[in-house]
Amino acid sequence: MSDMNLRNKPVVRDPLERSRDFGEVCLGFTPQAAALEAQRCLGCKAAPCMKGCPVGVQIPRFIACLKDGDVAKAKAVILKDSSLPSVCGRVCPQENQCEKLCVRAVKGQPVAIGLLERFVADNAQIQGVAAKKTGKRVAVVGSGPAGLACAGDLIRAGVDVTVFEAFHKLGGVLVYGIPEFRLPKALVEKEVAELAQLGVTFEKDVVVGKTVELSELAEQYDAVFVGTGAGLPMFMNIPGENLNGVFSANEYLTRVNLMKAYLADSDTPVFKSKKAVVVGAGNVAMDGARTALRMGAEVSVVYRRGREEMPARAEEIEHAEEEGVELKLLSNPVRINGENGFVKSVTCIKMELGEPDASGRRSPVAVDGSEFDIECDMVLMALGTSPNPLLTSSCKALATGRRGVIEVDESLETSLKGVYAGGDAVTGSATVIRAMGQGKKAAASILQSFENNR
Ligand SMILES: Cc1cc2nc3c(=O)[nH]c(=O)nc-3n(C[C@H](O)[C@H](O)[C@H](O)COP(=O)(O)OP(=O)(O)OC[C@H]3O[C@@H](n4cnc5c(N)ncnc54)[C@H](O)[C@@H]3O)c2cc1C
Ligand code: SF4
Repeated sequence: MSDMNLRNKPVVRDPLERSRDFGEVCLGFTPQAAALEAQRCLGCKAAPCMKGCPVGVQIPRFIACLKDGDVAKAKAVILKDSSLPSVCGRVCPQENQCEKLCVRAVKGQPVAIGLLERFVADNAQIQGVAAKKTGKRVAVVGSGPAGLACAGDLIRAGVDVTVFEAFHKLGGVLVYGIPEFRLPKALVEKEVAELAQLGVTFEKDVVVGKTVELSELAEQYDAVFVGTGAGLPMFMNIPGENLNGVFSANEYLTRVNLMKAYLADSDTPVFKSKKAVVVGAGNVAMDGARTALRMGAEVSVVYRRGREEMPARAEEIEHAEEEGVELKLLSNPVRINGENGFVKSVTCIKMELGEPDASGRRSPVAVDGSEFDIECDMVLMALGTSPNPLLTSSCKALATGRRGVIEVDESLETSLKGVYAGGDAVTGSATVIRAMGQGKKAAASILQSFENNR
């Protein structure tokens, strides 16, 4: 392979040092590495990489600006399609999206599109400009990526926007799910501050469906966007799940991230595990495992399929292993064992991969008589989430589908006229960029409906 077939490397902190604190693990490209990496982009006319990006960021165009040394212009190009580039550059599963389709990947390694996007976003300051006021008012429920993207596009189009958030912090999963060592919270605060500067009003500690009804918002505003995410964790329904020391990974991460349980003087401390088992293999499982490790535990991740099938970002799996997380693949918990009401061990059974299932993935089959125990004092369940039914159960007119997702039409309008929805609340747990894409699509539909009714 010639050097141009290999990607330039970002600065990554030493595993031993970083696994003891919550500081960011990957520090991104140096200016020199970013310039060299930009040179690897072939500037393909057909731009297959763009087809892999759920919001169609103009990748060759922004990289061309970077080649010219114009970082501000590069950021302006990205912002046309993505409102949170410093976030997406860090957390998008690029290997399955834009980078998967990069022509360079045929003979070597794809251009590091995510790292370049992050470099541009972190190194250019651009002030957005709000358009002339239209007199229209929209309520956005939830301040995750879907809500923020929707609010951003609407305010820039001259619409007055108020975001209602249940928590005391803004940003959704970006602040209470994804840990500081992967996504510094200051970045999310900066994105939120930019929206506030443009004129978006944020109302925190408002639970729509409790503090105020969705129907009231629908009456008071010209349109409503619901981006309430999918925060309800699933469990395995195996014996022992009620023992002390069994948590959903989402709850554990929220306590550590949002309530800062890692600080010595935190008033919401978490259980300090010595030996933890994490069940699952997605981003939530990896974040739970690496957080427990930083809180002082030895950690094993138990997953019923093989490495190839692990849904987490490749980089997170690599980083977790470097830091000392042990992967126990093709293993499935069947029972959690306790002593005096507290977790003592998990009994697992070995699995082997059988025929492909409906999803095309080979389904795991239990191997008879292969049970084994893993000693532990904490179990984190990271098996996926579904939308919290609080809002939908308080507003029966809002049609829902399988696992409680909100039903929408092509324009993302719900069964309630003028009420739109998007993000995890509609798709079930997915990705930041997909949620953002839906927030933007809903904003476009809302603007179109205003235009149609003029
Ligand atoms: C631990 C973890 C790690 C992840 N890692 C990645 C990753 O690396 N890459 C990636 O692309 N994706 C990742 N994801 C998934 C991604 O974060 C989500 O797909 C995305 O945040 C969904 O955005 P959203 O705006 O739809 O919902 P959310 O981010 O969930 O935001 C919804 C917001 O609505 C608020 N809300 C809920 N109900 C109400 C109500 N009734 N009234 C008012 N407010 C309400 C919530 O408090 C929340 O702030 C991860 C998820 C988790 C949990
Ligand atoms: S937003 Fe995500 S998928 Fe799109 S170009 Fe950026 S890193 Fe790739």
